[in-house]
Formats: sequence, structure tokens, C-alpha cells
Amino acid sequence: MKIQWDEKQCSHSGLFVKSLPEVFKVENGQFIIEPDKAAENEVVNVIKQCPSSALKHID
Ligand code: SF4
Repeated sequence: MKIQWDEKQCSHSGLFVKSLPEVFKVENGQFIIEPDKAAENEVVNVIKQCPSSALKHID
């Protein structure tokens, strides 16, 4: 599973980091996505909740 993140579209609500911290992380100021750290349906649910459509499930 691959996730595309569009920094320009992101409103930086931080919603996904709160919703699924094992997958969506900020480390040393860098945004990191590790989709394999949770079940696919959980990750897809968080993507759907992104308020600015900055996250896309691409694979
Ligand atoms: S949930 Fe969407 S808008 Fe919020 S920080 Fe993540 S990508 Fe950005």
C-alpha cells in the first residue's frame, strides 16, 4: 500500500497523526508515513477523513 501526501494541499490539521500515530509520524520535522504499521482499512479510513484531500491512496 502506498500513500501520496500533497504538502501544498495539506492544511496541517494534524488529524492523522492523532488518529493513527503508528502510521503517520513527524520525526525531526519530517513527515513519515508507514502504511504497513496498521491494517489497510484503518489507514484508508484516516485518509478519507483528511479535510483537505491531501492524502491519496495510490496503490
Ligand atoms: S489529515 Fe490531511 S490536512 Fe490534516 S495534516 Fe493530514 S494530510 Fe494534512
